[in-house]
Amino acid sequence: MPSARVQDALLSAIEQMAMPIALFDAQDRLCYANAAYDELFLRGLALPVPFPDVLRHCFHRGFGPRIDCGDIEAFLADILPRRRRQPQRLVSTDLLDGRWIQFTETMLPGGWMLTIASDITVLKQSEQSIRHAHASAMHAALTDSLTGISNRRHILSLAEQGLAASGAGLTIVLLDLDHFKRINDRHGHQVGDAVLQHFCRHALRHLRPGDGWGRFGGEEFLLLLSGSSVQDGVAVVERLRAMPAEPGVPPYTFSAGAVQARPGETLQALLRRADDALYRAKAAGRNCTAMG
Ligand code: GH3
Ligand code: MG
Ligand code: MG
Repeated sequence: MPSARVQDALLSAIEQMAMPIALFDAQDRLCYANAAYDELFLRGLALPVPFPDVLRHCFHRGFGPRIDCGDIEAFLADILPRRRRQPQRLVSTDLLDGRWIQFTETMLPGGWMLTIASDITVLKQSEQSIRHAHASAMHAALTDSLTGISNRRHILSLAEQGLAASGAGLTIVLLDLDHFKRINDRHGHQVGDAVLQHFCRHALRHLRPGDGWGRFGGEEFLLLLSGSSVQDGVAVVERLRAMPAEPGVPPYTFSAGAVQARPGETLQALLRRADDALYRAKAAGRNCTAMG
């Protein structure tokens, strides 16, 4: 045991530390809190005080931990059973003022428990920004930047999943804008881009949330319809022919090839049949849909 002189020095150091420190007795009464812990949870509340009363005090005064359910008794009923069950544990919580605090709770001889807290706000913020960056990178990797719909990689992976899940219940349609090169040549590449965006917006208004819709390449699009026959596919696509006029978008048409998967068919074979059907629609004079 250090001498009384050293103990005094230690206690005064703990009192002034920036890290919140608290000591609870075997009845879970808060018996000691340094100044930083006082600022966090007590703000003048007299000691000793049972731990649940510390949280009730914070809740009614509007500071301390954020309690999402808005019911302090339900919150206590949730957290108290997990307290004092392990020799040591880490708990983190966010505060009403936006800070994040992590507590290290250590059980000591005689039923005492020491709590040391640290401010992990900066860590939490960088964790959040990494999570956001990851989500937006994932989104960008799967999205066509011009139209905002699934890119080729994503729509192909959705097609693989659809084929595995629905098998012969999957119908796919390949759609290709007619004489698109002419639109670019006549009106310029920017107007061509506006046509592609217009077509996607128009299609999205007619498709169901579960339908797959992606840009397969240049002016070619792939539509995935689960639980649909090839006739359903043709009906969906034919409804797209009534295009709303929009300033800056010249009239245009598209051709389509619709095919329904055969039992055991690979995606590659299914796409080849859709491409053949599309070719037949082009050969038949364009602005129409052929079935595989
Ligand atoms: P068809 O009716 O036989 O499909 O004729 P087409 O002119 O549509 O087909 P073709 O394959 O000859 O030309 C496609 C054109 O699409 C050529 C290419 O420059 C254009 N294109 C591809 N991607 C884009 C794009 O992102 N923006 C624009 N503006 N044009 C694009
Ligand atoms: Mg074309
Ligand atoms: Mg094409």
